[in-house]
Amino acid sequence: MSEQTASRDAICRFAASIFARGLTSGSSGNISLRLSDGGFLVTPTGSSLGTLDPARLTLLDAAGRYVSGDRPTKELPLHAAIYETRGELSGAVVHLHSTHSVGVSILPGVDPDCVFPPLTAYSVMRLGRVAMLPYFRPGDPAMADAVREHAGTRSAFLLAHHGPVVAGKTLDDAVNAMEEFEETARLMLLTFGKSPKTLSKEQVADLVTHFDVQY
Ligand code: ZN
Repeated sequence: MSEQTASRDAICRFAASIFARGLTSGSSGNISLRLSDGGFLVTPTGSSLGTLDPARLTLLDAAGRYVSGDRPTKELPLHAAIYETRGELSGAVVHLHSTHSVGVSILPGVDPDCVFPPLTAYSVMRLGRVAMLPYFRPGDPAMADAVREHAGTRSAFLLAHHGPVVAGKTLDDAVNAMEEFEETARLMLLTFGKSPKTLSKEQVADLVTHFDVQY
C-alpha cells in the first residue's frame, strides 16, 4: 500500500472513531496530514467525519495548491498557519468542536496564555501550554494570523466560542493530544469554581525537563 493510500485510510479511520464517540458532530471538525513529499491530505468542506470517503479527501501540493478531490475545509488557513510556523514538529492537525473544550472557551476568567491549569501530568506532557485565540468568524483569515503570532511555540490552541485545534508530529500524536485536550477540558469544567489542587511549579518544571515539553 502506498504512503498516500495508507494516510487516506488512517484519516478516515481516526475521523470515524472521533465522530462515533461524539467528539464532534454534524459536519464540524477537520483533519489534515502532511505527506513525505511535502503535499497535504485534508478533509473536505461540508463533510461529516463519520462518513468520509478516502478517495474524496482533498490533495494539495507542497505549496498548498489544489491537486485533486473535493474542495478542502474552509478552515484550511488555520491548518496552514500551524504547518507554516511549526515546521517538522507538525505532521498532522486536528480541529474539532468538542463540547467540553468549547465550554472552557466560554468560561469567564480563563488565562489566554495558559488555558488549562496544570491539573494532570498528561495534560502538561501532551498539550504543553495551551493558548486561547480570540473569537473569529469561521473562515476569517485573521484566525491564521493569530496562530502565526505565536510563531510555532504552541502545539494546541483553543478558539474562543469555537473549539480546539491541535498539532502532532504524526496523526496518532495529534489525535491522542486532541483526546487529552477534551478530557482536560472536561476535568476543568467538573472542578471549575471548586479550587482544585494543581501540580506545583516544581512538578510542572520536572515534567517539562524530563519529557522535553514546549511549555
Ligand atoms: Zn471549526
